[in-house]
This record gives sequence, C-alpha cells and structure tokens, in this order.
Amino acid sequence: MKRRTFVTSALGAAAISSVPYTSASAANLPAKTLSGGEIILSDAEIKELGDSLRGPLLRPTSAGYNEARKIWNGAWNDRRPALVARCSGIKDVINAVEFARTHDLLVALRGGGHSISGKSICDGGMVIDMSLMDSVHVDPFAKTARVEPGVLLGALDRASQHFGLATTAGVVSHTGAAGLTLGGGIGRLQRKHGLTIDNFISADVVTPDGRFLRASDQDNQDLMWGLRGGGGNFGIVTSFEYQLHRVGPKVLNVSFMYPISDAKDVLNFYFDFNMNTPDDLYIGAGMAIPPGESGFAMISGCYFGDFADGERLIEPLRKFGKPLFSNVAPIEYVDLQKRNDRNNAHGHHYYAKSGFFTDIETAVIDNAVDRFTGTDSRRTLLLISPFGGEVGRVANDATAFPHRDTQYQIEISSGWEDAELSDGNVQWCRNYWDALEPFTSGGFYVNFMVDQQQEKLNENYRGNYDRLVALKNKYDPTNFLRLNANIEPTV
Ligand SMILES: Cc1cc2nc3c(=O)[nH]c(=O)nc-3n(C[C@H](O)[C@H](O)[C@H](O)COP(=O)(O)OP(=O)(O)OC[C@H]3O[C@@H](n4cnc5c(N)ncnc54)[C@H](O)[C@@H]3O)c2cc1C
Repeated sequence: MKRRTFVTSALGAAAISSVPYTSASAANLPAKTLSGGEIILSDAEIKELGDSLRGPLLRPTSAGYNEARKIWNGAWNDRRPALVARCSGIKDVINAVEFARTHDLLVALRGGGHSISGKSICDGGMVIDMSLMDSVHVDPFAKTARVEPGVLLGALDRASQHFGLATTAGVVSHTGAAGLTLGGGIGRLQRKHGLTIDNFISADVVTPDGRFLRASDQDNQDLMWGLRGGGGNFGIVTSFEYQLHRVGPKVLNVSFMYPISDAKDVLNFYFDFNMNTPDDLYIGAGMAIPPGESGFAMISGCYFGDFADGERLIEPLRKFGKPLFSNVAPIEYVDLQKRNDRNNAHGHHYYAKSGFFTDIETAVIDNAVDRFTGTDSRRTLLLISPFGGEVGRVANDATAFPHRDTQYQIEISSGWEDAELSDGNVQWCRNYWDALEPFTSGGFYVNFMVDQQQEKLNENYRGNYDRLVALKNKYDPTNFLRLNANIEPTV
C-alpha cells in the first residue's frame, strides 16, 4: 500500500476541510490523521485495503456503516469515522494496522464497544473493529479459555459454565472482554480469584509496527505486565487466554433493598459487615434512583462456597433494618451475571466517574447520601464494589494495575435518553463526584476514565507510570494507539 502525501498548502487544506465526512464521493474520502490533520484517501487505496480484508470494509456510503459506528454509550453516536474495518481475523487486523500506519490515520480500536468515554469510535479516522472476532474456545482439561477480542462477557461466562468453570468478569454481560481485561477487570469473582488480569495468562498481539507477538509470563514478559492494566496502549490483542476455575453452576444470591431514607444506616452497616469477610463472599452496596422514582439503597452480592455456610455468614444482614425486598437463594451463576443487563441499555446517554477508597469515613457516607438525587428522566446509580481478598494479595507493581491496596471501588453513573439533557446530567455527575473525590485515594479505574482525568493518569498509575512510559516508548513510540487512557511516549 503506497502512501499518498497530502495537502500542505493552506488552500488545499481549506478545500479538504470543507468536504464533510458524510458526503465523500465514491472516488475519494477525507480522513483524519493522527495529529488531527486531514488527508484524502483515494478510491484505489480504499479498494486495495478492502480487497485485502476477509471482513467488510465500510465507508460512510456503505450499507451497515451507520450500525457499525454505534457504540454502547449513545453520547458518542454522532461520530463518523472515515472507515470501519470489520476484521474477521489476525491478518485483517495486521492489514488494517498497516494501512492506518501508512496513511498516518487516527485509529480507534473496538472490542465490545462499551467504552464509556467513547474511545472505540472516532470522527474521521479508522475504526479497527474486532466485534466480528467473537469465538470462545474453552479447554476444560487445562481449565483455560481462549477468547477473541469481540467476545462479550456473557459468551465467555456461558461457554465456561458449560464445563462448570468461570473466570472473573464484569457485572453486565454485554460488556466486551477486551477493554475490560486490559484495564483490570472488576467482578464478582475478584475476591476469590483476583481481577480479570490475574487470570489473564497470555495474549496474541499485533504491535503498532505490524508484528505479531505472544505475550505471557514466559514470552515478552514486559508487554504482558503492561497488558495487565495498562489498557490498549501497546498493541492490538487478537486473542486473550484466561485461567478458569470451578464455579457454581449455582451460587448463593444475596439481595437486600431498603428505602432510600435509610441509606446512611444501610451504608454504615455495610462497611462494618464487610470487614473481615471470607474471599468466597462478594457483597457490594449502593443506591439507585430510577427515572421519576424515589429510589432505594441496596446491599447485594453472592457467596461462592457451601450454601449453609453462606446463610450463616449473612445472618447479621438478615437481622439488619427493614428491607423493602430481600432474596437469599441459589441462582445460576450465568443468570446472576446477566441481572444488570436491562438497566444498562444500549444507546442511552451515559456518564460515570470512579474512585478508590481505603478508609471509609462517616463524612463520605453523609456526602454520598445527602447529594444523591434523581430526576424524572435520569437513572442515577452509586455502586460500591469490595476489593481485598485475592486482589489485595498481589503487589501494586506486579501488574500495571496499581490499586491493589484499595478496599473499595466506588462509581457514580447516570443514564438518560434525551440528548438535550446531557449538559445538565453530566454536570450533576461531576458536581457529585467533586464532593466525594477528596475522600478517595485520588486514583480512579482507567476503564471508567473520562477525558478530564487524562492529565491525572501519571498520578493514577502511581509507581507504575515510568515503567508504562518505557513500554510505550518500546512498543508504540509514535503513539499510534492514542484513543485510550493514554500513556504518552517520551521518545
Ligand atoms: C454497562 C457497563 C458495565 C461495566 N461493568 C464493568 C465491570 O463490572 N467491571 C469492570 O471492570 N468494568 C466494567 N465496565 C467498564 C468496562 O471495563 C470498559 O468500558 C471496557 O473498556 C469495555 O470493554 P469493551 O471491549 O466493551 O470496550 P471497547 O469500547 O470496545 O474498547 C474500549 C477500549 O479498550 C481498548 N481495546 C478494545 N479492544 C482492544 C484490543 N483488542 N486490543 C487492544 N486494546 C483494545 C481500546 O483502547 C478501546 O478504546 C463496564 C462498562 C459498561 C458500559
């Protein structure tokens, strides 16, 4: 693929920028470069790329383009990439990378498409879309799973549970395994089996310079260290291998809902209850206000051990307060993992912020409860996920994920349908978080990072940042992969 050099004159640049991305002729296509400039891709160049791919290459005039450019968070659905390369295998990914590099194109990587900050879609550049690469291969003898980058968590859970196995995965089954894993991977099994990255044993990777590498504790160990929490900064992962464990198929579901007016007592009780619980018990807490309702507080989770032991452990919970609803009963693990799906519908507008807490002060609870409000149209959620257990037994610098010593991850998120309400709802969320943030350790989960936090990324990675920069310098010195929680190269 030859590179066409494009316009440097002001006149040419003006001519190109006046061509809207939406109305590119079949013969040429304006596209955005890595540095934010614009180039024109010729029809012949696009055709050459299209012919080299097994999967479809979509441009704005192609059938299926509008569906392919939509991601889970509807806030970003006005973005219009110049090209969407719907890869169907490793060679497609390599060819797409080669083309983007040759033409200096801005690139977004799409796995499951759940980037809250919209990093898996871009305006004018090229999306390397791996959502069609969605095979899961479970080896029940070795207790491992090999997963392509378009796999959603529900498919991983389902295929693994077929053999009574599972690995740590997030709590909404339509989230992608790829992005979730590369940022850390928080889920119900984490206290028992660690974060997803603690079960991430190898990766096949296409590097920004087009090489194909294996990363594991034996091969390219430095890269493997960075993939365990450093996000999509170093290469494009075409296969994830996970360690699986015996789980279920039934686990003990634990759900209690209380009036929102009891929220302070509920959260205070929760933090006391959750101290010194065994790794088999994963209990979170939170508050939710559905649109137009008064809302509720909750304590919920599950127990992975013997049900009778679980019942005994949660006895204090049964005796606490006056729940509106409670359920303690065995449930299929795959069903539990799908339970939040409907409350996280595709295409709504969402905003979220997260942080880590080590010490819980009463003032945090007071602030969190007093400021927690809803509207007729916004769904508002505060979710507390317990850390500790196996997560905390790994050193902060053993993987790129630097928050092992935290006790809780707290996340505020809101969702609404009407785009006109976005400014107000985003601002509400920011204000809410501004009041809580001083009580946190200052760090945040990169998978919930919003653009405002990019400048705090160095601080967030704590002692691991310099090592991440060295890796970036080695594997991606031109910052080809920059639509992410971006580790900026220094070479
Ligand atoms: C409804 C919902 C629930 C969630 N629940 C949880 C949870 O329980 N636990 C948790 O830990 N997180 C959770 N998250 C956060 C989630 O981990 C991130 O949104 C994650 O980025 C989603 O991955 P994805 O593949 O779907 O995303 P995508 O939008 O496809 O990708 C996000 C980013 O990941 C990188 N990336 C994707 N694919 C590749 C690849 N093949 N190679 C290299 N880099 C790649 C890119 O930088 C990309 O911008 C949740 C998010 C949502 C929206």
